[in-house]
Amino acid sequence: MVPRIGQEIRLKQYPKGVPTEDLFQHVKVDVPEPKVGELLIRNIWMSVDPYMRGRMRSPEETKSYIDSFQLNKPLDGACVGQIIESKNNEFTVGECVLGNFGWREYWLSNGKDILKINSKIAPIQSFLGVLGMTGLTAYVGLIEIGKLNEGKDTVFISAASGAVGSIACQIAKIKGCHVVGSVGSEEKVEWLLDEVKIDYAFNHKTVGENNISSELKKACPEGIDLYFDNVGGKHLEAAIDNMRTFGRVVLCGMISQYNVTSPSAGPSNLFLAITNRLRLQGFIVRDHYDMLNEFHSSMTKWISERKIKWKETIVEGLENAPKAFIGLFKGENFGKMLIKIGPEAQ
Ligand code: NDP
Repeated sequence: MVPRIGQEIRLKQYPKGVPTEDLFQHVKVDVPEPKVGELLIRNIWMSVDPYMRGRMRSPEETKSYIDSFQLNKPLDGACVGQIIESKNNEFTVGECVLGNFGWREYWLSNGKDILKINSKIAPIQSFLGVLGMTGLTAYVGLIEIGKLNEGKDTVFISAASGAVGSIACQIAKIKGCHVVGSVGSEEKVEWLLDEVKIDYAFNHKTVGENNISSELKKACPEGIDLYFDNVGGKHLEAAIDNMRTFGRVVLCGMISQYNVTSPSAGPSNLFLAITNRLRLQGFIVRDHYDMLNEFHSSMTKWISERKIKWKETIVEGLENAPKAFIGLFKGENFGKMLIKIGPEAQ
């Protein structure tokens, strides 16, 4: 029986600074009916991602590569759901699909905005992480933007136990590089050293933001060839201090800056980019979807060879999605932050 009432999460007001749970609203809505050619999908998993903070700004406030969320409308983002009603011959009830209508329980698709999931490779939620957008980001950032030199580079990765960072660390290790990671807890340091087996890891909270540069000097006495920046701020400045001549800085994200209420000063040592002939390049993963097939074939091979490990922090219940999202800015996730909305029907 298809239920008649579903739930969705809306944003009531754009946050100033760190978002708070009271800015979100949990609403009961009618479940839509599929017309001919359409499917009704029930979400099982959804992703919360740091980039969503950028969409929580009024359209007047910032021009961005992606639209702002609309107030008092359901939020959206990557999700994995199961078809519960099909009026489209290409899809059958029970199939799992990847879509972009998270933050709600039920949604309609015309079949063109979804991808069928092959759950033989890995559990279906992996298509939101290691086999999804965050895995692709790690791959594109290192290989395409960072031009990783196999067997040669010393690579520094910040937020190194997160969804992007943990996969970037492992791709760099598979490619024979010397890998250093920064994270926000001792448990994360231990996992990187003992399980993922990177070469050096440190806790940026105990080291202190003004000592990251000297920690990097210890970790990379010959300097850094490639910095994969997920954090910005003092991490970026410290990495620039330690880059080797002709080093590359991949600007993937700057999570330390997403909640600032007034623009902070840029790295004070940017002149080193000239003297050391550095290349700093930002990228947005959606510009590189042409690499999806190459990424999937490499990643599925590495997974089958047990060369890639990944962690998930699972928060149960759609109503807890705002709390999970806010948790990203406090380091509450270890690996990919996921929301389990409901069970998969067998
Ligand atoms: P993560 O899974 O890494 O989660 C965020 C982590 O960032 C937290 O767990 C925390 O880890 C760390 N963090 C949060 N606040 C701070 C801070 N102030 N200083 C230092 N570390 C902090 O998220 P993702 O892997 O999904 O994303 C990582 C980065 O990549 C983000 O900046 C994101 O915006 C960016 N990104 C960019 C894409 C692109 O196309 N360019 C695509 C996808 C992501 P810890 O406990 O270790 O401090």
